[in-house]
Amino acid sequence: RPPSLVHCFKLLVLLALARLTMHVPDEDVLSSLGTLPLDGHFSFHDVSAMARDFGNQCSFLPAAVLHPGSVSDIATTVRHVFSLGEGSPLTVAARGHGHSLMGQSQAAQGIVVRMESLRRGARLQVHGGVSPFVDAPGGELWINVLRQTLKHGLAPKSWTDYLHLTVGGTLSNAGVSGQAFRHGPQVSNVNQLEIVTGRGDVVTCSPEDNSDLFYGALGGLGQFGIIIRARIALEPAPKMVRWIRVLYSDFETFTEDQEMLIMAENSFDYIEGFVIINRTGILNNWRASFKPQDPVQASHFKSDGRVLYCLELTKNFNSDDADIMEQEVTVVLSRLRFIQSTLFHTDVTYLEFLDRVHTSELKLRAQGLWEVPHPWLNLLIPRSSIRRFAKEVFGKILKDSNNGPILLYPVNKSKWDNRTSVVIPDEEIFYLVGFLSSAPSLSGHGSIAHAMNLNNQIVEFCEEADIGMKQYLAPYTTQQQWKAHFGARWETFERRKHRYDPLAILAPGQRIFPKAS
Ligand code: FAD
Repeated sequence: RPPSLVHCFKLLVLLALARLTMHVPDEDVLSSLGTLPLDGHFSFHDVSAMARDFGNQCSFLPAAVLHPGSVSDIATTVRHVFSLGEGSPLTVAARGHGHSLMGQSQAAQGIVVRMESLRRGARLQVHGGVSPFVDAPGGELWINVLRQTLKHGLAPKSWTDYLHLTVGGTLSNAGVSGQAFRHGPQVSNVNQLEIVTGRGDVVTCSPEDNSDLFYGALGGLGQFGIIIRARIALEPAPKMVRWIRVLYSDFETFTEDQEMLIMAENSFDYIEGFVIINRTGILNNWRASFKPQDPVQASHFKSDGRVLYCLELTKNFNSDDADIMEQEVTVVLSRLRFIQSTLFHTDVTYLEFLDRVHTSELKLRAQGLWEVPHPWLNLLIPRSSIRRFAKEVFGKILKDSNNGPILLYPVNKSKWDNRTSVVIPDEEIFYLVGFLSSAPSLSGHGSIAHAMNLNNQIVEFCEEADIGMKQYLAPYTTQQQWKAHFGARWETFERRKHRYDPLAILAPGQRIFPKAS
């Protein structure tokens, strides 16, 4: 059974204790870093920016920050830390864009490797042909991967909802969005990786070569190596997408339609959904860069206090096949059972659609609402439990309050490569349910305490009702919790750790393997 999020409440206490017992590397060790032959450099001061993340709830100062100028800088540094042996407390965390929630990309009194520095020296290389691909630096943002590949009329197949995340960061988790039902998560769309292991070895791996490391690193929470470069499969990119939202008032109908769509051969190119609780301005949440073609009709629609479910779909098209797209969309929509007066759509470029959350980010930043705490909770719920889950969570726990979007959409297990390290429920269809809360105030409904209390109730319900839930981007703090999370897959995960990072140097912020010292 998954461990309770009650532990999240205890986390702050544990973190405070960890600070007290933290091993601080001695001066000799730190000055030895300064003598390493590097193309880039270390900073030992002004490191506080590396002690922050999107979650805004954990802050651990590193002892040093590496701004690598080359792959060899990363390998040299890790090799050096490895050579210090078991007695050294030094750890190394690769930091992508720092969009973790609970300090996962931080290294208390360790070394943070700023992967984005490396991306400036490395190039995104697009290769065409029958099976096109791009070689992307691990510290590259997905938005830049998209911009570069679009120049060649190509794009990756599988995305996250937000593109200002790094290639290495999302591949270390899974990378899930509304394309996963067709292409699987991002980790299912990688041909090859180049990795610096916890011994400082630079290894190229793929399904054919060093496959144990390849699959281990995908979804491996940074435990086995630092992803320097990823070879990502591409497909021809459409120019435009039709972006559609329709509303449901009945959860069963909503999810039946979602499931029908993800199983259908030729339905949509992106399928997600979200839950709207007790809101009148229903299109008025932070993911609302969606501007329906009929804004008057949309603004007139009132939820009247009901919980509503929004199905979000897109269909790709180019200007010369717009008519065919129209016909296909009409046919598939006619099979759905949404509230007929709630069909909203708009046509946008592929880039605008994929980068949609950034538009909202800019609006929130302008109001000082982006850099607030984010007590997010992301759950994977098996299909067989989703109704029970919804009844309790949307009917009781979150009856009249939530502080951010709630995503809810199904994906199919057969598209997830079970050789990767990603942990998912054991059922062919499972739902990603993301409670993307913000906590802008110190007390009341907008506070961390309020959001954590709701999160806690949700996780406790999942445990008590034994619904087979797994957490995504899990914030566990003890090895016992991680063992429960991995279940039968723990043995493989632990074996890989001993093989590729035996001194537990890498990604200490995940709190899976404490460094022996
Ligand atoms: P970081 O947070 O910097 O790092 C994440 C972890 O990976 C850390 O443990 C770090 O040490 C390790 N790591 C980083 N780089 C490397 C590397 N090169 N090699 C090895 N390990 C590395 N996720 C989804 O799946 N789908 C979504 O739709 C989605 N939407 C999001 C929207 C927003 C607004 C935000 C903030 C996050 C979203 N995420 C989503 C979560 C995202 O996948 C995680 O935040 C993830 O951590 C990526 O962020 P990052 O690139 O900044 O990595």
